[in-house]
Amino acid sequence: MQIIRDLAGLEPALAAWREAGERLALVPTMGALHAGHMALVAEARRRAKRVVATIFVNPLQFGAGEDLDRYPRQEEADAALLEGGGCDLLWMPDVADLYPPGFATAISVSGISERWDGAARPGHFDGVATVVAKLLLGVRPNIALFGEKDFQQLAVIRRLVADLGLTVEIVGVPTVREADGLALSSRNAYLSSDERHRAVALPQALESAREAIRSGDPVDVSVAASIAALTAAGFGRVDYFALVDGATLAPLDQPAPGARLIAAAHLGSTRLIDNLAL
Ligand code: AMP
Repeated sequence: MQIIRDLAGLEPALAAWREAGERLALVPTMGALHAGHMALVAEARRRAKRVVATIFVNPLQFGAGEDLDRYPRQEEADAALLEGGGCDLLWMPDVADLYPPGFATAISVSGISERWDGAARPGHFDGVATVVAKLLLGVRPNIALFGEKDFQQLAVIRRLVADLGLTVEIVGVPTVREADGLALSSRNAYLSSDERHRAVALPQALESAREAIRSGDPVDVSVAASIAALTAAGFGRVDYFALVDGATLAPLDQPAPGARLIAAAHLGSTRLIDNLAL
């Protein structure tokens, strides 16, 4: 596996694969890799000849007071995992490479970015859209893979790619979970062992809302019961817990085809998100 840091080195590293007409997949990450990230790499390998992963802790997508400074960084372990997973190239750009002095452009996907995580984390999806556009333009892959774990992010990126007419196929990969149901996340490392035990209440609350709605209970009643269960399990603020349209993320008060249950809640100083197909 080649490791490239500077933007100038990227194009020469990709040139031979482009000339040979080899299908290229991109897997963007912020590092601190786990089996969820590796599921994206495995799916990328199934769909393309060459797999490029990126590790970039993108300052633009962190708000003031968020965890940019303490975000876990473990480049050597990450590179070993990617190499073992069959990744061909790891691009780890510097902040100054992606955002050189004078950088003044932002990409904002309105509407779909504004609710839920967009409301709880102002500016977050502008940062995501801007960096993903830069990574797609740098690598120019045939396909790019993103986790359903970050369901709104996936929808924002699909909108971005459609609106800019980028010729890349966006592939969503199902969420990888721990044995007890907790979605894998780099941020799970922040949880104390007591919090880690309590954290399973989040996927359980999504599952019980799903069962209640499927059995005909009103959406608002089902959601209220799940929020109460989170509070009882020791969660603090619930940023949102909602049934939404799977493409537009607009809230639904009735079940509908493609509907998704999405939630974000705080446990101690950690913010956890998760979602489930209805
Ligand atoms: P991150 O490093 O957290 O920015 O995540 C990089 C990519 O991995 C994103 O597309 C995430 O949605 C995806 N991802 C993170 N956690 C999981 C998981 N548990 N299962 C599947 N994909 C995931």
